[in-house]
Amino acid sequence: MPHPRVFDNYLPLAHLFNLIFLLVIMYKLCGSCLKRLGLQGKPEKCELCGNIFEKIDVLLDFTYDAEFFNFNVGVKLDPETLEKEKKIIEELNLSGEKTLKRELLSVLRKKLKEKFNKEIEMEDPDVIFIFDLKKFKVIPENNSLYIKGRYNKYVRDIPQTKWYCRKCRGKGCSYCNFKGKMYETSVEEIIGGVILKYTKAEEEKFHGAGREDIDARMLGDGRPFVIEIQKPKIRKLDLKKIQSEINKDNRIKVTELEYSNKREVIELKRGKFKKTYLVYLDQDISDEDFERIKYLREISQRTPKRVQHRRADKIRIRKIYKVERENSNCLKICCESGLYVKELITGDDGRTVPSVSSIVQKDLECIALDVIKIHDR
Ligand SMILES: [Zn+2]
Ligand SMILES: [Zn+2]
Repeated sequence: MPHPRVFDNYLPLAHLFNLIFLLVIMYKLCGSCLKRLGLQGKPEKCELCGNIFEKIDVLLDFTYDAEFFNFNVGVKLDPETLEKEKKIIEELNLSGEKTLKRELLSVLRKKLKEKFNKEIEMEDPDVIFIFDLKKFKVIPENNSLYIKGRYNKYVRDIPQTKWYCRKCRGKGCSYCNFKGKMYETSVEEIIGGVILKYTKAEEEKFHGAGREDIDARMLGDGRPFVIEIQKPKIRKLDLKKIQSEINKDNRIKVTELEYSNKREVIELKRGKFKKTYLVYLDQDISDEDFERIKYLREISQRTPKRVQHRRADKIRIRKIYKVERENSNCLKICCESGLYVKELITGDDGRTVPSVSSIVQKDLECIALDVIKIHDR
């Protein structure tokens, strides 16, 4: 097919006539496609869309059994169709503003709005109904439900998140006593268990604003988290009831449960918050020693030996904002996000410099650690 430029020296009217003529020979189009592309002609069995607008109602007859309050629509077209359309638009120098995909989206949104009597939500829909026109079927994409809150952890033997067995990675082996995991439960599993039950879902992901060590308690007003419920069947929840059901487990406490969204997960993960700890030592701190450590403001910390197997080995400079003496063997330390507090005490064989041990010239050990505040608000 010659490029339109061939006709440049013809009269404009003849030019147009020729193009339409070429088009009709090359592409037979239905009424919808002609109208959308701004062309004239007799509606035909459509070479572009395969008369999809006449068949679409068949596809609309589907059921979806999960609860939702709003939705959006997606359309998957066969690459050949997209290519054909692109060719018509280019060959005929059309604006191409109204594409087949756009028209389908707008028709389908309108029809589904009537079918379900639910609102359309472009940004963050509960579900996206994907119309795969090549396979001629509808695939619903049930988006995750996000719930946020703060948690406290009152025990020193459960991790924040589910910790799969490092030998069998969850399958179950003699190392993990055929449980598939390293700890009986976790903050994630206690919270997730209740929410999964009420949302009739099977999988969740737990996003915390950082995490404390397994043997550290999380006190004060708690640590922010968002739990992502994947493929929920129920979205309308009594969060008060869920909260009190979770809190029947005395090992943790959840407060301020609210609906959240994906954007807040990203913010949570990006947040670098100061933290205040209570650090219990194996020895008393004398007045004289305390005078020497209370002005400690900055340390250089190489990745601790105990986490080296899972973290990159590098040196970080970390700030300390305040050191107070809570009682004879307990320090209250407010420091920058990412500072390893246990190593701040011990010095980690010279990897943390200076350390409380190096300043007082004693081998101090941290016998217990509590996070008492996350400074996120
Ligand atoms: Zn068509
Ligand atoms: Zn195992």
